[in-house]
Amino acid sequence: MRQHLRRIIQSLSALLLNGYWYFPVSRTIYQGRLKSICSPGLNCHSCPAATTACPLGAIQNFMAGIRASLEAARYHFGFYVLGWLGIIGGLVGRMPCGWICPFGLIQDLLFKIPGRKIRIPYIFSYGPYIFLALTIFILPVWVVDAFGYGFLWFCKFICPAGTLEAGLPLLILQPTLRMMVGHLFYIKVAVLFFLITGSVLASRPFCRTVCPLGAFYSFFNRASLFQLKYHPEKCTHCELCYRDCPVDIKFYESPNDRRCIRCLVCLRESCAFGAISWEMGGLEGQSSRPKTSPVNSQ
Ligand code: SF4
Ligand code: SF4
Repeated sequence: MRQHLRRIIQSLSALLLNGYWYFPVSRTIYQGRLKSICSPGLNCHSCPAATTACPLGAIQNFMAGIRASLEAARYHFGFYVLGWLGIIGGLVGRMPCGWICPFGLIQDLLFKIPGRKIRIPYIFSYGPYIFLALTIFILPVWVVDAFGYGFLWFCKFICPAGTLEAGLPLLILQPTLRMMVGHLFYIKVAVLFFLITGSVLASRPFCRTVCPLGAFYSFFNRASLFQLKYHPEKCTHCELCYRDCPVDIKFYESPNDRRCIRCLVCLRESCAFGAISWEMGGLEGQSSRPKTSPVNSQ
């Protein structure tokens, strides 16, 4: 029932962020006023149904235009995107990953397909920081065209959400685009295929090894207003939190870990001993599930 609440919120958010259902008639993407707002989760701007902009695309656009702006003596930078994401991160850390991101929902559903499952080695959790630094901040400023504009490296060469939500649907909607398909598109389809297959085998492989947005939010996990609290005196080290965690965190070793997507499964479902609670701006709470005393459980 409790996971159901998260699934409902994830599904509603995916529907709201992709609520332009006129696209089969218009055969083009929505370009109204809502597109000036960034979605808190990864959702491709060019998806025909998308109502909002993608935060990663917006940051790359901002970075790609910096050199041209400086050369033209226009110091009007779009810091609002970083500020908006910073406000969300400062309030709840990576919670949008667990509750709002449509691409996170897709991976969660794929992982439900029965079969052999594998754990992703810890070392790969540094991957998203490399993608964040290189494809979002460094390369769009460093490599520029004759006019001083950079490229959107992540969107152009990697983003599987873009391929799934925009590239493939637009090819179906606009047959004339099919003539423009080149090697790059096939590479991106291969990346998407690899991640979809990986999502059946492992929980959230894209979030844990690639996603620069999750990496950005992760810097806030230990400092955000919302915090998960650990009560060692109640913990039995039963490892149920580790068994259920979608990103393989042992909560009792690392509360509010940078990898935590704040799904709250450990708080709401796993821990039967009251060893996990939450706090936000002076408010505190615990899971409402019945608690077992650590002594009784021995
Ligand atoms: S880390 Fe995963 S859940 Fe979080 S924004 Fe990226 S894709 Fe979405
Ligand atoms: S530590 Fe808890 S809240 Fe964080 S991802 Fe794991 S189960 Fe979810």
